[in-house]
Amino acid sequence: MPSDSVLRIVWIYPDLLSTYGDQGNVLVLEQRAQRRGIQTETIHVRSADPVPESGDIYLIGGGEDRPQILAAERLRRDGGLHRAVASGAALLAVCAGYQIMGSTFGGEEGQPVDGIGLLDIASARGPARAVGELVAEVDATLNLPTLTGFENHMGVTHLGPGVKPLSRTVKGVGNGDGFEGCYAGHVVGTYLHGPALARNPALADLLLSWRLGPLAPLDDSRYEALRQERLATVLQQT
Ligand code: GLN
Repeated sequence: MPSDSVLRIVWIYPDLLSTYGDQGNVLVLEQRAQRRGIQTETIHVRSADPVPESGDIYLIGGGEDRPQILAAERLRRDGGLHRAVASGAALLAVCAGYQIMGSTFGGEEGQPVDGIGLLDIASARGPARAVGELVAEVDATLNLPTLTGFENHMGVTHLGPGVKPLSRTVKGVGNGDGFEGCYAGHVVGTYLHGPALARNPALADLLLSWRLGPLAPLDDSRYEALRQERLATVLQQT
């Protein structure tokens, strides 16, 4: 539990990385904490500003190649996200944000660009753009229901021994090797847009529980019906 009972959510670089509604991930965390009576404070960190180290959950989204390169340079120079994660903060990194967390990723011309080394992964340009719906079954140790989302990326991601795959791809491309996303400690990387946490509230609760401990259940029946409808439609498509 955060010492002063306020959950601090940090949204990194909204001016560079926030495609396909990734900012919705912030709203979902705020709402699911508040519905449980937990106060939240959200900090939007623009790329010219230092990343605070006192956050509980950090979020970073997807984006185009150029802003992705800028974001990687600034995060590396700043160092605040590294220090926050080293002291136990949770992080959800989506698509471009996910690739940035590794050792390297592909730039505009496919050139290798240095990542920030928070996850043992390496990304590069893949053979074709992956666009469409993603469905994936989650690593059993995380005990999460099927993940669903939308992907749009050129990059493919190779996982090193320091991370575990988040899920196994049922539909879509994900990392490009049959898996989608990865996790290590309290850091989750994923190609899921949607936004990911709106389409997968259990993933939001996993991040919350890493900071808050066991959570009171919420009545999600309305959202779950929509989720199941979406999953059924996607799985029917060839
Ligand atoms: N620029 C990266 C790629 O194409 C990430 C794209 C994204 O964040 N949607 O792989």
